[in-house]
Amino acid sequence: MDKRKIQKAVRGILEAVGEDPQRDGLRETPRRVADFYQEIFAGLSENPEAQIKLYSAPNQDEMIIAKDIFFHSLCEHHLLPFFGKAHIAYVPADNKITGFSRLVRVVEVLARRPQLQERLTAQIADVLMKVLRSKGVLVIMEAEQTCLSMRGLKKPGSVTITSAVRGTLKKDALRKEALALIKGFIPEDSTSGKLNSRKSTRVKK
Ligand SMILES: [Zn+2]
Repeated sequence: MDKRKIQKAVRGILEAVGEDPQRDGLRETPRRVADFYQEIFAGLSENPEAQIKLYSAPNQDEMIIAKDIFFHSLCEHHLLPFFGKAHIAYVPADNKITGFSRLVRVVEVLARRPQLQERLTAQIADVLMKVLRSKGVLVIMEAEQTCLSMRGLKKPGSVTITSAVRGTLKKDALRKEALALIKGFIPEDSTSGKLNSRKSTRVKK
């Protein structure tokens, strides 16, 4: 990552809005932002598929749920944070499972890029489908979009929910079971099988 280029750009923005980049509080800002971007966009140079390690678990063919995976990301339209929780359900194939921390890493690597919540949700589902070779995957993400709440388009604290469903979890009965296990964050109406069509509550920008 070219941190000098980021610093130069941040100084340019400060000048453009009429600030003095040399005043006390701002002198170190370009460097701080560059350090921050290096951290927050670290996922750009990492492979999400490489985060998964498969373990053999005899007779493990029941659905596995990982709830409340906290994440932060930056919306690619405004470079402002969106943050919240991811919930993952998957049905193992051939008794192959992975650890909770591995799922957390997949979410982290994909979230530490300029993102959109819908695409992040779909990418997590696709990586898990591919690498876990699971029979089905359901990913639900609920997040506050600061670019919406700060501009008053949504009340602070209101969440956008996105979902991506793959394979056997598209079947009504299985999906309902997964949602019942994840429930608590999911609105009542999504257990009625409408989740497929209700991909996002995002407002148009
Ligand atoms: Zn945005």
